[in-house]
Amino acid sequence: MTLNPEILKKMVLILTNTHVSELSCDECFDEIDRFAEIELVGKSAAEAMPLVQDHLERCQDCREEYEALMVALKFMDQEKPAE
Ligand SMILES: [Zn+2]
Repeated sequence: MTLNPEILKKMVLILTNTHVSELSCDECFDEIDRFAEIELVGKSAAEAMPLVQDHLERCQDCREEYEALMVALKFMDQEKPAE
């Protein structure tokens, strides 16, 4: 197949956009439950959801939200009767 420069340019543009795509606070907030749950079961949430991790590192508001959620989830976990 022939790669014409125009297509190549478009592809690079798409790849670049994908690479720099960042979550907004709303998007981060939508994902944060899942992120916390992955973390709670002892898996690497940062690996599973790198965009959320990335946002949490840069956004104080969402990090506080996430930390509060983790505290709440851990608390709920302790309250749960053992089966
Ligand atoms: Zn945020």
